[in-house]
Amino acid sequence: MAKKQKPWAEPYKIKMVEPLKVTNSEYRLEKMKEAGWNTFLLHSEDVYIDLLTDSGTNAMSDYQWAGMMLGDEAYAGSKNYYYLEANVQKYYGYKYLVPTHQGRGAENMLSKALIKPGDFVPGNMFFTTTRQHQEIAGGTFVDVIIDEAHEAKGTHPFKGNVDLQKFENLINKVGADKIAYITIGAPVNMAGGQPVSMENMKQVHALAHKHGIKVVLDATRNIENAYFIQQREPGYQNKSLAEIHKEFCSYSDAATMSGKKDLLVNIGGFVACNDFEVFEELRNMVVVYEGLHTYGGLAGRDMEAMSRGLEEAIQDDYMASRIKQVEYFGNLLLDAGIPIVEPIGGHGVFLDAKRFYPHIPQTEYPAQALAAHLYIDSGIRAMERGAVSAGRNKETGENNMPNLELVRLTVPRRVYTQSHFDFAAYSIVELFEKREQAKGLKMVYEPKYLRFFQARFESL
Ligand SMILES: *Cc1c(COP(=O)(O)O)cnc(C)c1O
Repeated sequence: MAKKQKPWAEPYKIKMVEPLKVTNSEYRLEKMKEAGWNTFLLHSEDVYIDLLTDSGTNAMSDYQWAGMMLGDEAYAGSKNYYYLEANVQKYYGYKYLVPTHQGRGAENMLSKALIKPGDFVPGNMFFTTTRQHQEIAGGTFVDVIIDEAHEAKGTHPFKGNVDLQKFENLINKVGADKIAYITIGAPVNMAGGQPVSMENMKQVHALAHKHGIKVVLDATRNIENAYFIQQREPGYQNKSLAEIHKEFCSYSDAATMSGKKDLLVNIGGFVACNDFEVFEELRNMVVVYEGLHTYGGLAGRDMEAMSRGLEEAIQDDYMASRIKQVEYFGNLLLDAGIPIVEPIGGHGVFLDAKRFYPHIPQTEYPAQALAAHLYIDSGIRAMERGAVSAGRNKETGENNMPNLELVRLTVPRRVYTQSHFDFAAYSIVELFEKREQAKGLKMVYEPKYLRFFQARFESL
């Protein structure tokens, strides 16, 4: 049972259901072998509870579906674009908006617009697609997150914070003119969904601006971050998420956004900024990579669903239920003694594969193996966030060996019930009880970019 707390319940009810296929473990072992021990290569119809990602897996509301019928599918100047622009100005506060098909479309353009070859781009831990676009644009990512973020255990309430000393050291070492901008992601996906405090964001902004460096927000999960500030940071308990979120954004100059996370849609994203020259550059670029600046690769109906999703995501009751569902699941595992990243983060629960499978060395990909075993055992799909996701060093070509070797169990928004999480927790405990039998993996196919998506493995 979860820790004693007042029970909560979702502020919505189910109107339509999608039946799931129930399979047995012999069937799933076959499927896992066919998929090269990579959960990204499974067919989703063979999955029972899909915790691979919370990206684009959201359940839309009746209000959003109704909006889908109001798509203005004009090539130029769709009314859905103007509504999205107004909502982004209202809730994020940026002046200019360019829609994109998803987050990486925004990252591609912003990286190209702001990074010169040879530049450095500090950030509070890397994110896979973000760093890849920074590198393709000729930049070098530098991690400036606090040390606590690289530990699976701990009680720091804002483990996503920037270490200001690390940031300042970089400025002193390479010079401010060699720093394209600093990226702040909040909560930090790769650190287990750990939030950034308002205080830290203010300080980052002050230090960056003192040296003429821009602050770019990876705003993908920023409304979740506002919830943690409301719960944990003194002075914010009586403020609404809308107020907190807008204040946080005010300490940045631009943002890239994947609507597939916070904004409760299945596809969509945007890039936004305050600087007209940057906007002009993005607006020029978007016609090459995404589409005209008033649709950016999206149908009018998709922009409408995203605007309406934003209005729902910023509601305090909704966001509390989102994070509390993640907490409920995490607490079931903690109470059973399962090693997970602590504190429990915003968008999922992260199993610590180094402690789950201490007998499998990191070179044999314990997190990749654990994700595969969980699927075979119970039909639950998770993903690796460890040595496979960390890729290779840009200069030396060596495998990066991150301190965190995790399996991410991501919670899709408004999709699963409490009993799905009871089942998932029970299955994980069963797997933990027979952990000694588990074997590692060997990589037999390695793609050049973002290898975790398509790599193939064999069991040792
Ligand atoms: C998902 C994600 C992205 C990339 O967005 P896509 O829509 O998947 O392209 C960037 N940053 C963070 C923190 C994310 O979670």
